[in-house]
Amino acid sequence: MNGLAERVAALQARLARACDAAGRDPDSVELLPVSKKQPLALIEEAAMLGFPRFGENYVQEGAEKAAARPDLAFCLLGPLQRNKAKMALQAFAEIQSVDRVELVDRLARFAEELEVRRGVWIQVDLWNEATKVGGCAEADLPALLDALRAAPRLALKGLMAIPPPEQPEAFTHLARLRDDLQQRLGQLLRLSMGMSADLDAAIAAGSDQVRIGTAFFGERN
Ligand SMILES: *Cc1c(COP(=O)(O)O)cnc(C)c1O
Repeated sequence: MNGLAERVAALQARLARACDAAGRDPDSVELLPVSKKQPLALIEEAAMLGFPRFGENYVQEGAEKAAARPDLAFCLLGPLQRNKAKMALQAFAEIQSVDRVELVDRLARFAEELEVRRGVWIQVDLWNEATKVGGCAEADLPALLDALRAAPRLALKGLMAIPPPEQPEAFTHLARLRDDLQQRLGQLLRLSMGMSADLDAAIAAGSDQVRIGTAFFGERN
């Protein structure tokens, strides 16, 4: 297998082709490397290639990496239990897996106590997959948005989703939901969708951030 630099260059070429096909500026799509189950040494190599932010799935693993490299920023992508809310606020620059009111309330309380501000993303689930991967059902979004409005230390950045595989129309539904919410809130929202297997379709549908693990770092351990 090629080294990291070669793999990342190939990935960036693929991203550029996807943007070109969609008539989009490549600078309008952020590449977030997902480093779960990858060693710190590989993250450090990626940092030297110019990547300062990484996605992680597990609170404990992400906290250890963040402690080892406080100069890098880690974003939590995986499910967050309420009892790990405080640790998550301490370790992560952003939390993308916010999906229920009780979690927002807990995060808001600890953010106050720790005197920190954090960017948060709402993980949405339009496909009834919450039991598998987490996510807020569309019907529960208004309550979640109300809870976030009451939490000044949590800044809503956008929507994150993990649609079921082989359902490219899911990306279009998400883009429509984002446009809708943007209108209703009068605020710009970013859309984080697309992984190694489906980044091209996600970019075509308007993704602002693709979260890439395997196609960036190689197979996970
Ligand atoms: C693992 C993971 C990714 C990256 O997946 P790949 O298929 O390896 O690119 C992206 N987003 C989330 C939420 C993940 O858990």
